[in-house]
Amino acid sequence: MYDARHALQDKLEQERQQLAGLRAALALPHDHGDEADNARDEMAEQLARCHAGLCVERIRALEGLLADLGCGGRRLCADCGEEIPLARLLAVPGASRCHDCQQLAEEEGRGPYPAGRTEGEAPRAAMPR
Ligand SMILES: [Zn+2]
Repeated sequence: MYDARHALQDKLEQERQQLAGLRAALALPHDHGDEADNARDEMAEQLARCHAGLCVERIRALEGLLADLGCGGRRLCADCGEEIPLARLLAVPGASRCHDCQQLAEEEGRGPYPAGRTEGEAPRAAMPR
């Protein structure tokens, strides 16, 4: 039998490693004394921060999902109550609707998440000129 929790744990581990890598890269000192190099680093750093924020969000979603599935539970669609297929949960761990309802919601302009979900780190504000 295919063990869903195993697949999720693998994915969680991958995300954690990616996050650790990003954090390590962000922690490196970077002063080349060269303005062009510093500007490039600044951009790479902003990207890495943005990336790390997304990673954290995915890790939270995966952890929540694992907790839900931990006791043989299932995640049900918030709209129609059908079970959300595992393949979809693996692709979109934070999914709260099945594929059909999600599409309907997007067509109706209700956005990717149910109201009230505003998780995630905002990217750093644009650089002043
Ligand atoms: Zn549904």
